[in-house]
Amino acid sequence: MLRLPKFELVEAHTYHEAASLLRAHGAGELDPARGTPSLRVMTVAGGTDLFPNMKRRQFTPEVLVSLQRVDGATAVGVNGALHLGAGVTLATIASHPAIRERWTALAEGAFAVSTPQLRNAGTIGGNLCLDTRCNWYDQSLFWRSAEGFCMKTHPEVVCRVAPSSPRCLAVASADTVPALLALGASVRIEGAGGGRDVAVADLYQEDGIRFLGIGRDEVVAGVTLPDTTGWRSTYLKLRDRGSFDFPIVGIAAAVRWDGGVVAEARVAITAVSSRATLVEGAAAALVGSPLGDDAIAAAADAVHKAARPMDNTSGTIPQRKRTARVFAERVLTSLRPH
Ligand SMILES: Cc1cc2nc3c(=O)[nH]c(=O)nc-3n(C[C@H](O)[C@H](O)[C@H](O)COP(=O)(O)OP(=O)(O)OC[C@H]3O[C@@H](n4cnc5c(N)ncnc54)[C@H](O)[C@@H]3O)c2cc1C
Ligand code: SF4
Repeated sequence: MLRLPKFELVEAHTYHEAASLLRAHGAGELDPARGTPSLRVMTVAGGTDLFPNMKRRQFTPEVLVSLQRVDGATAVGVNGALHLGAGVTLATIASHPAIRERWTALAEGAFAVSTPQLRNAGTIGGNLCLDTRCNWYDQSLFWRSAEGFCMKTHPEVVCRVAPSSPRCLAVASADTVPALLALGASVRIEGAGGGRDVAVADLYQEDGIRFLGIGRDEVVAGVTLPDTTGWRSTYLKLRDRGSFDFPIVGIAAAVRWDGGVVAEARVAITAVSSRATLVEGAAAALVGSPLGDDAIAAAADAVHKAARPMDNTSGTIPQRKRTARVFAERVLTSLRPH
């Protein structure tokens, strides 16, 4: 049995306090041994991903700042827009009647995460900040010690998937993120020095190690999704095991109808690179069309071109690329008016 390493747990009661605790314990300072930002302190929300990773010694923080008792973290507000505290669970999102009806892709993305037990504990904030994944990295310390470490935990070592790559190619695997992209969401970031709002589209970087574009001493405090009047949206993922598994391709799409044609569209893809992205070419192919077969085929073609999976998850590269096209066709066809 894998056991957790020892750590100290400190509790925050506001997101600002959490960020201050991170800074006070050295978050963001350079690790002198590696020259990379220190991970000796981290946040924990539901712990559904962090604790397994700690058991495998992918992270060994000395201090964890718990977000479980942050005031208002589990608040859900619907007033035209949708406001979610970062501590709202995936189970709440998946079953909330207004979210299912009006922000459907998000409810479907949350429902597609793992198992009921993990959705009851896992939070939207933790999902947004989910570590990137790779077959070479998501292994026990014993396995990695025997096979050899890689750049993600040991910057002095090469990437084992693509040894000539200057960066880690680990894969974005959070199911709610493509949905949030398609729905035009933004996140509230809290730091010790103040807060700011960032579009989800600007939250990520194409780097399997530094995939989050926020400081180590900052936290996600909440998510806002704009009013979806006139929009329809959906999410579909390919996974190895149908009962529970991370995506190896995920496609979310949202379209706004106006007078029988698509007035606005967003199509997002995940699990084929280190960040989920909007496929601008797909949206362009849809706007102004009644979502006929030709427009859908052109959009699916753009998604197929944008999908550049590496051989570091389950499934094969041709299978995942072809699935990107087929799933794009399926999600867009499902968004036609009934
Ligand atoms: C068997 C298994 C299957 C899974 N399947 C899926 C799946 O299919 N799809 C999927 O998307 N996920 C999956 N997960 C991962 C995980 O359960 C979810 O992503 C969940 O939403 C994580 O939320 P959490 O609150 O438990 O995060 P935690 O585990 O507490 O934290 C995850 C990371 O986010 C950081 N973090 C947490 N909250 C914040 C915050 N507010 N601000 C800044 N950083 C924060 C933590 O420091 C940590 O690095 C799976 C996990 C397991 C163990
Ligand atoms: S992509 Fe390369 S560097 Fe990144 S986790 Fe996998 S093997 Fe390691």
